[in-house]
Amino acid sequence: MAVKYQRILLKLSGESLMGNDPFGINRETIMRIVSQVKEIADLGVQVGIVVGGGNIFRGVSGQAQSMDRATADYMGMMATVMNALALKDAFESLGTKARVQSALSMQQIAETYARPKAIQYLEEGKVVIFAAGTGNPFFTTDTAAALRGAEMNCDIMMKATNVDGVYSADPKTDPSATRYQSLTFDEALIKNLKVMDATAFALCRERRLNIVVFDIHKTGALKNVILGADEGTLVHN
Ligand code: UDP
Repeated sequence: MAVKYQRILLKLSGESLMGNDPFGINRETIMRIVSQVKEIADLGVQVGIVVGGGNIFRGVSGQAQSMDRATADYMGMMATVMNALALKDAFESLGTKARVQSALSMQQIAETYARPKAIQYLEEGKVVIFAAGTGNPFFTTDTAAALRGAEMNCDIMMKATNVDGVYSADPKTDPSATRYQSLTFDEALIKNLKVMDATAFALCRERRLNIVVFDIHKTGALKNVILGADEGTLVHN
């Protein structure tokens, strides 16, 4: 099967791992997501993943309101490491080789991020899970995804969400909302459509790294994007 993208950066939010639970990691949900990634890895697609941490701790949330922001952000980054370890475990339980690289040094549990090594793993067909965001407070894992996507020379940024693309209005509240099949970075800015956070969006645009927004909970959606079917929304230069 011919694939449209050879190397992808998949951004998974922490929430996407929760399933219907109020917080944390839902085993069934994580296994479902990982199985879909395995399907495309088995087609020869090289996969890097940046995972969020919002299912465990988020620096700007209610829990952290009275805390020093940088400290809270470091806690948020540590939450992403927990998710990364859970993802690695899930991949390996399916027989897919995966490595975790953390932007913060935690030698006993994960390798520290090193670009050449990460590229080597991708070339060897191992899934690389990038943990601890950018390693810096005041950023988000969306921005980490844009950064790693650019560094790994990925062909596409795949932003996994709970809706199947970018809509003209909120589809939950406005029945007339329609999904964009594709739009340019400029159109998204002019129409004030939220694709990724502003820093991540600017970096993708500047590096000419196109973005596909798609529904990670829709079975087969990830593979459809990879095979070039009409799925999600493509944001392009
Ligand atoms: N975070 C950070 N720097 C980064 C990435 C993440 O400080 O480069 C912290 C921040 O506190 C954030 C938390 O980690 O709220 C979890 O990341 P994020 O909110 O992006 O996760 P998601 O919404 O994707 O689950």
